[in-house]
Amino acid sequence: MPSFQSVFLAAVILAFGLKLWLLLRQMRHVWSHRDAPPAAFLGIIPLEEHRKAAAYTLAKARLGLLHLALEAGLLLFFTLGGGLQWLHDLLSTRLDSGLLAGTALLLGLGLISAVAELPLSALAQFRVEARFGFNRQTPAGFVADLAKQALLGLLLGGPLLLLVLWLMGVMGENWWLWVWGVWMGFNLLILAIYPTFIAPLFNKFTPLADEALKERIEKLLARAGFKSSGVFVMDGSKRSSHGNAYFTGLGKNKRIVFYDTLLSQLTPDQIEAVLAHELGHFKHRHIVKRIGLMFVLSLAMLAVLAWVKEAGWFYAGLGVASPTDATALALFFLALPVFLFPATPFMSLYSRKHEFEADAFAARQTEAGHLISALVRLYRDNASTLTPDPVYSLFYDSHPKAVERIEKLDAYTNLQPQPLRA
Ligand SMILES: [Zn+2]
Repeated sequence: MPSFQSVFLAAVILAFGLKLWLLLRQMRHVWSHRDAPPAAFLGIIPLEEHRKAAAYTLAKARLGLLHLALEAGLLLFFTLGGGLQWLHDLLSTRLDSGLLAGTALLLGLGLISAVAELPLSALAQFRVEARFGFNRQTPAGFVADLAKQALLGLLLGGPLLLLVLWLMGVMGENWWLWVWGVWMGFNLLILAIYPTFIAPLFNKFTPLADEALKERIEKLLARAGFKSSGVFVMDGSKRSSHGNAYFTGLGKNKRIVFYDTLLSQLTPDQIEAVLAHELGHFKHRHIVKRIGLMFVLSLAMLAVLAWVKEAGWFYAGLGVASPTDATALALFFLALPVFLFPATPFMSLYSRKHEFEADAFAARQTEAGHLISALVRLYRDNASTLTPDPVYSLFYDSHPKAVERIEKLDAYTNLQPQPLRA
């Protein structure tokens, strides 16, 4: 029998080798297609815009390489490098209560990882995004965001971790069912309070003011049977010129959010089409399905955690000599992504299926041609690559490739032969 340590090392090499291979493939593919946009986009996306998208994608990918090295470094430092054991020793000698020391261990782990990633996020924002004209964030705003995120993480994560560790300590063999219940409740709570309490900490939300647009949107909402607490505009432009739209919240708290950048990029027809796509996600119950999937997967993962937590080989194989509830949790969440990584394409496939369904819904509710022109506009303005590597895309992309989306949408339009217009 190979030791768990060698199984873990093999999984690390496999996962990071695969990540590196995919990223290098993507870089090669985007580079070699930098002068050749897909046939369907010839004359619609100017060549210089296509080249810009290639350069932007490559710049992000180069940061991706650094990120990969950092991620692998942190993982090995905390596990086989003894980093987690060091943190455990440091905290347990200073804090009398095991519960507090455990909570501090998990928060400390998060804090160290976040601090280590900071230089790369700053580079992404102030070098890459800035170089391509997307950055609107100031250094002061960047720091303020970080401070708010850290505080929020502490206020929400601290009590949650304390409760979880307490349940692990007192609930006996079935602790993992209790933790599952708490974790699910926490997720639903966050989802419910996100639009009204969390998102406003970072952005301003104002009700949509454009009356003509509002009327069109309300008609579309009524047609789709969508009851919400309103349509809001978010000041996304204070951080970035990338545009987006989403809907959020649960039950009556649902709201539709447009970035102000998106509203200034698109025509009313296109905005309506983008909204119809978002409503497609709602109509097909994609959020509910995702929550359902998360419930099932979390239960399975906690069952695995309950099993490995009792096994000496689990701690020894991952570089920890002090088996506690907190070190078990920490090691589990450090090691789990390595073992789950090969499943990434399935999650991406699931997500792309949802995107196609939402597109089809939008094509029925509005004109497919409007969604096509909105997509072309967004691809261009966001400098998203139109020529991703097929394998990379298969693995990671939550959205189908531009060409595929537009081909399918094209099939819904009867307006031949002028399907594309930016
Ligand atoms: Zn979508």
